[in-house]
Amino acid sequence: MVISEKEALKAYRTATTAELTALARRVTESVHGTGVWVRGLIEFSNKCRRNCLYCGIRRDYPAVSRYAMTEGGIIEVMSRSRALGIESFVLQSGELDPKGTAGLLKLVGAIRSKWPDTALTLSCGTLSRSEYAELKAAGADRYLLRFETSDPILYSRLRNRASLARRLRAVADLKELGYQMGSGFMVGLPGETRKTRLDNALLCKSLELDMVGLGPFIPHPGTPLASAAVASLEFTERITALVRLLLPFAHMPATTASGSLDALGRERMISAGANVLMLNITPMVFRRDYLLYPGKICLQEGWPDFLDNLSGRMKPLGRSLRFGRGDCLDPARGTVEGGS
Ligand code: SAH
Ligand code: SF4
Repeated sequence: MVISEKEALKAYRTATTAELTALARRVTESVHGTGVWVRGLIEFSNKCRRNCLYCGIRRDYPAVSRYAMTEGGIIEVMSRSRALGIESFVLQSGELDPKGTAGLLKLVGAIRSKWPDTALTLSCGTLSRSEYAELKAAGADRYLLRFETSDPILYSRLRNRASLARRLRAVADLKELGYQMGSGFMVGLPGETRKTRLDNALLCKSLELDMVGLGPFIPHPGTPLASAAVASLEFTERITALVRLLLPFAHMPATTASGSLDALGRERMISAGANVLMLNITPMVFRRDYLLYPGKICLQEGWPDFLDNLSGRMKPLGRSLRFGRGDCLDPARGTVEGGS
């Protein structure tokens, strides 16, 4: 079941949150079935060359100790996760400098030769087109690069004078290079309006994204946005539902930020159209230094019972964890999974 853009926008404007999310759920289950794809997330380095105003690992924040996991450490955590059935991994970090990119290139090559079939997603910030091309050639499959907000003035203010056009150029580069492409935004950034939120969803649609990650903004006490308001989870649910209606084939994670804002936040995102869960498999020793925002749930989620925990959380929703690469669906080929 897929509905038109006009119908989606009408539902967003007029339906209650319960009605809107129920509609999004029906669309999700008809296209993706009841499975929820599991991805293993490794936050492999918190070194960052940027100074985004919202982020708890921004370059100028002195209260985190900077780390970069070794290649051996990353391979080890992936081996342990593969033994639990995880076959899709996301490697995330602060925005890399050229030395960091060279290390990542070597790492991607090593992972690809060890596990030719595993799905490998990178999320390491805005890089040059040639760097993206090299990483793709080394074996990366997918990339996550949120545009954060569709308002260019807000973007520039919050990302310390960086340009939205440059970020969107990077998204276009990645798509042209053949990556399965994920982008998205934060909900409730200070300065965001109702129109910005709607434009964010429409931008996801016009970029024809394969994956959309969106989550609530949570102010970090050590950043210039410390006193900003926390985002509304209901706004997050509503916009998740709209993106799902606009992009029925996209993979959409129930983000950690939503689970950090509310004990049932991830469940609410699944109920509003998300179909992916990212499990944080970063070794505990590093997690305290990768707090983009406070209250991040991963500090409580231990190894290895987190899978049982998440599986138990999906049951009451009539959903179950699904393991495998979970490649993007191709609407052009009419690929439909699961049915309903
Ligand atoms: N450095 C890379 C990837 C790591 S940051 C990049 O910036 O693209 C991953 C995501 O965390 C960002 O895209 C942003 O949307 C989110 N994030 C950062 N600070 C946040 C905060 N205070 N609240 C909620 N999400 C935040
Ligand atoms: Fe760096 Fe990403 Fe945080 Fe910006 S959001 S400071 S690029 S880690």
